[in-house]
Amino acid sequence: MEDRIIIFDTTLRDGEQSPGCSMTVEEKLRMAKQLERLRVDVIEAGFPIASTGDFEAVRRIAGMVETSSVAGLSRTVLSDIDRTWEAIREARKPRIHTFIATSDIHMTHKLKKTRAQVLSDAQRAVAHARSLCPDVEFSCEDASRSDMEFLCEIAEAVIESGATVLNLPDTVGYSVPAEYGAMFRTLRERVPRTSGIILSAHCHNDLGLAVANSLAAVENGVRQIECTVNGIGERAGNAALEEIVLALKVRSERLRVKSSVNTEEIYRSSRLLTNLTGMVVQRNKAIVGANAFAHEAGIHQDGMLKSALTYEIMTPQSVGITHSTLVLGKHSGRHAIKKRCEELGYNLSAEELERVYGEFCTIADQKKEVFDEELLAIVEAVEPGAQEQYRLEALHVSTGTNVRPTATVELKSGEDRLVDSATGDGPVDAAMEVLRKCVSDVADIRLEEYHVDAIRGGTDALVDVRVRLSKDGKILTSRGARADIIMASVEAMIAGMNRLLREEHENRGKNPR
Ligand SMILES: [Zn+2]
Repeated sequence: MEDRIIIFDTTLRDGEQSPGCSMTVEEKLRMAKQLERLRVDVIEAGFPIASTGDFEAVRRIAGMVETSSVAGLSRTVLSDIDRTWEAIREARKPRIHTFIATSDIHMTHKLKKTRAQVLSDAQRAVAHARSLCPDVEFSCEDASRSDMEFLCEIAEAVIESGATVLNLPDTVGYSVPAEYGAMFRTLRERVPRTSGIILSAHCHNDLGLAVANSLAAVENGVRQIECTVNGIGERAGNAALEEIVLALKVRSERLRVKSSVNTEEIYRSSRLLTNLTGMVVQRNKAIVGANAFAHEAGIHQDGMLKSALTYEIMTPQSVGITHSTLVLGKHSGRHAIKKRCEELGYNLSAEELERVYGEFCTIADQKKEVFDEELLAIVEAVEPGAQEQYRLEALHVSTGTNVRPTATVELKSGEDRLVDSATGDGPVDAAMEVLRKCVSDVADIRLEEYHVDAIRGGTDALVDVRVRLSKDGKILTSRGARADIIMASVEAMIAGMNRLLREEHENRGKNPR
């Protein structure tokens, strides 16, 4: 019999707190919904004590998720644990995840506590959490650089206090596979009581070994892996969920364990996250990169044509990548759009369909054919239910040889109309400049990054623009998809401004860790 591996997704906690990956409450809810469709076992929804925005996101995810467990992270401070419990108590399967650093480096320099103090903090925290919640995970932060004797001592103590899961993270991405696996093997030998709980791995990718380390842990008795979609996370990121899940699946005869993840939802989860955060995955990224299933080298193609088994260890279909030839055009009605979206995995509400259809018609008017990838970009660029403070009413651009590029923009904000014009180094620059002039309360936003992609490669393709904006240290990415590059840029910019304003409103007093 194969053992089951618990997939603990921390995209919304460890992933989200890394630079450039922050999401609004609404965006986190969308991602959580998709994670549930992906059938991860545990969704770590956030760090409730970090801010009211974090608390609210965790609370709403806990109330919404039906099948997965919902975990909230907490330090060992008892009032933090109470606050975390408050956020997750409505979940069908709540889990309190509490942690304290156990390496001498962290205890001495960060916590300024002795081993005895850390041990007693951990025991007290776990016992308190357990008095509130039947499922309690304890993590020894920086476990891979902690003293093995002390790890065993603390494991014994927290199991005694009621921990149901013990996580030993490689917080700084320092370990190598044999060593990380051995840590678990030694722990199991020296602390037999670990057989009554779940051991968990949590690896960072600083040396590119997060997935390898996680699998080494599995080979040494670990039955929970903590990971993130696309491997997002602090610095070089966390272990990538898609790589772990496919490794477990493709190599099940060797690893002899299995997960419950629905691999056909992997590609969609990856795309949604990219869309929400703007963190694009590299083309050669395993499983979800654009080239992951491309066999272009002549000798490989020859082999593939003779038998897919020659070079293909898994199929694109198994991770939900579909290649369709269906083309929509300006005469396609609402019904056809709705149906195609459903086939691509998006069940649009009536309101969403209206907005997607509106966008689609504008684009189909300009270009004859709309392909699946382009339809997806349209769907993903439409934010559900978002209140938009600024709307584009009109845009005029002039450019050419011997002309200073000039843009005129008309925006609507409630009943107000804002019109202005500006010049720039190019038409996009001029359009950006005029937006900044129009919208005084986001005048201090900075354009950090500007990225253009033609979705199907040709000049007649839909243009996908992503912009990275910052304001008062807050960074976010937004997106616009249009047939026209300047329109797409302006749409992306306005969507980003609207989100910055919304978040400022939502996250008053946010002070992330
Ligand atoms: Zn981490």
